[in-house]
Amino acid sequence: MKIAIGWLYPTLMSTYGDRGNVICIQRRCQWRDILVEIIPLKRETPPEIFEQVDLIVGGGAQDRQQEIVMRDLQGEKAQALKSKLDNGTPGVFTCGSPQLLGHYYEPALGKRIDGLGMLDMVSQHPGIEAQRCIGNLVFEITAEPLAKELEAMLGEKPVAIGFENHGGRTYLRDVQPLGKVIQGYGNNGEDKTAGAFYQNAIATYSHGPLLPKNPFIADWLIKKALQNKYEQEINLVAIDDSLAISARKAMLQRLDLSNFMATV
Ligand code: GLN
Repeated sequence: MKIAIGWLYPTLMSTYGDRGNVICIQRRCQWRDILVEIIPLKRETPPEIFEQVDLIVGGGAQDRQQEIVMRDLQGEKAQALKSKLDNGTPGVFTCGSPQLLGHYYEPALGKRIDGLGMLDMVSQHPGIEAQRCIGNLVFEITAEPLAKELEAMLGEKPVAIGFENHGGRTYLRDVQPLGKVIQGYGNNGEDKTAGAFYQNAIATYSHGPLLPKNPFIADWLIKKALQNKYEQEINLVAIDDSLAISARKAMLQRLDLSNFMATV
């Protein structure tokens, strides 16, 4: 079996270490003898290439890079990405990427950047004087059917642990939040929503990167990608995640959230 990971603008959208998500998916596939191809989706990439990907990863960026990406991600490319997400291609989009998938992003300086409108939400930076939302982020994944599927995999309610660093605040409209904030700012520091979930696309403010800290999400993405591609039920071989589990426990202890320990 083989999966092709489409990596959105690897050079422009890699400010916050989210390439770790690509590496995590790649390694977890390789450990199971699943072949992986990484396809960079960048400015020179023709829209047809978007059709070839089984899973999409998008990372965070600074406002300036986001603007360059938005100028490029138009027309046929935007359409190709939209039809992928609409048709259930799994993806993980962190921070700057989800801002672009919403209706618009208003940066700290300069004009509003129109987004792709794939997620029914808007993002606004309150200005350079405003405090950035920085720190450890812990949230319970509540979006359905994702939460139930993860709970079945884990035997416990799924709790994601990560790190956020954003100026923009995101306000959801008619789209499910990915989860509920336990610790941190989440989408906007006000309504306790964390991220968004649409079809099989996970949108989050959580760096970390997200997947190595929460390997069950990586496995969910891999499973979805393989099931979509091969149209059969996929059961992934278990991987020894004891190091990741220890890291999760250490973080929950540090944040005084040991009552969520059962879920790691
Ligand atoms: N530039 C965006 C913000 O500050 C995204 C930051 C990020 O991707 N971490 O909100």
